[in-house]
Amino acid sequence: MTITRSAGSWHDQAAKLSFEGRLFIDGDFRAAASGKMFESINPANGSVLAEVSRGDAADIDRAVASSLKTFKSGAWSRLAPRARMAIMLRFADLIEQHASDFALIDTLDMGKPITEMLTVDVPLAVNCFRFTAECIDKMQGTVGATSPDVLSYVLRQPLGVVGCIVPWNYPLLMTAWKIAPALAAGNCVVLKPAEQSRLSALLLASLFMQAGAPAGVLNVVNGFGAEAGRALALHRDVEKIAFTGSVEIGKLMMVYSGQSNLKKVSTECGGKSPHVIMADADNLETAAWWAAMGIFGNQGEVCCAGSRILVQTSILPDFLDAFSAVAKKDYIPGDPLETTTTVGPMVTVEQQQRVLNYIGIGKQGGADCILGGGVPEGLEAGAYVSPTIFTGVSNSMTIAREEIFGPVASIIPFDSYEDAVSIANDSNFGLAAGIWTSNLGTAHRFARDVEAGMVYINSYMNGDMQFPFGGWKESGNGRDKCMDALVSYTQTKSVWATIGN
Ligand code: ADP
Repeated sequence: MTITRSAGSWHDQAAKLSFEGRLFIDGDFRAAASGKMFESINPANGSVLAEVSRGDAADIDRAVASSLKTFKSGAWSRLAPRARMAIMLRFADLIEQHASDFALIDTLDMGKPITEMLTVDVPLAVNCFRFTAECIDKMQGTVGATSPDVLSYVLRQPLGVVGCIVPWNYPLLMTAWKIAPALAAGNCVVLKPAEQSRLSALLLASLFMQAGAPAGVLNVVNGFGAEAGRALALHRDVEKIAFTGSVEIGKLMMVYSGQSNLKKVSTECGGKSPHVIMADADNLETAAWWAAMGIFGNQGEVCCAGSRILVQTSILPDFLDAFSAVAKKDYIPGDPLETTTTVGPMVTVEQQQRVLNYIGIGKQGGADCILGGGVPEGLEAGAYVSPTIFTGVSNSMTIAREEIFGPVASIIPFDSYEDAVSIANDSNFGLAAGIWTSNLGTAHRFARDVEAGMVYINSYMNGDMQFPFGGWKESGNGRDKCMDALVSYTQTKSVWATIGN
């Protein structure tokens, strides 16, 4: 992929982009075996951005064969840890050097504001590759406490070919969270990007080769879930599927595993996360700012979005004033290529319609829409939805139970701490949770009581690379980031050696 840019606005730079849309298999760009293509549509204006190869089972077969051959060759899996680390670190440097290319590609391909790409997605992805690389030679096996005539030890070895199936909301970052630990642990990867965000993974694959990785270590097959994704998850030579997406498809991954080779499956399947504002919160304006970021940031297309905002009744009017004020001031939809824009379009028109449908369900269900609730004026050509606030929501309403994946906040009142915990836990999901309180005891009781994989006290959606990311209940069973993630892409081998006295 060659990207030539010159100084100028992001629009000028976007106009000069040329895209490589073929699959990346065995070290090179290749057309799909069927020759079929599909379109990448820019959701900000509906224009066709690029034609992309539409991979299917035949291409997955080619990619898995390439990865398996490379894995067995040992060219990657048996590299000395620090040699693998050096390539991964060079890879991270190259991604950083191409920050503006990644920013432009993902912004045009799926609509998120370019500022979000430059301040969140790209730096966090680079950080993910660096952290994971640095972990490579920190992962150790163990030696058993056996009798003196025996030496028993446990090795950690890579799994083989890992299939990564990722979503469209953070195309670069979600890909990094999956492929970085899989590659660092010595596996070869076949990546299936979401069909709504196809392009940045191709640049990633070519940069990995430039960093010195052997061909076949990272293959990228774009295509539809039911074609390419299904074929990858059913493939008998794939030893693990690392998946982020919907609950429905996450469950299918486990079915596919059972129908094929009992491959390991790790899932991250979204949430309906409670963000609790207690009356004793130190500063309501600060809480409102974080609550708004938690649901309107990245257009609400965030798996750990704080979409259920639980507010203690005594402060409800004051909180609503503060929260609406931030929403109106800081979250104004606009052109994602403008650096001042904080809310871009939804990823596709289908996603826009899905979110608008939920807004309709909220209104019909009796919730009170006090902000937004439709398509912003003047932006009808794109897939936009206005940041929307519902009050008077009860936890049994559809908009409080289902993941909307858009900028729609449901405000749910509660009376006591016990009510808050009971409402928070009354959900099939359990990804994240937040609480605002000045009472240390309340804060840590909540951390203990809430059924969620991640809890934020007096902030929201924070964390770093050593903070495991993953959920409880139907939010999935996997953990991204952290040393454990790396370990989860290995398997143990127990060795029992009788060495005599
Ligand atoms: P969303 O609803 O957010 O688009 P999905 O769960 O449908 O989330 O998609 C997440 C990822 O799973 C995407 O890469 C998609 O292509 C893939 N996918 C969708 N359906 C299947 C399937 N039947 N088998 C394998 N992968 C799938």
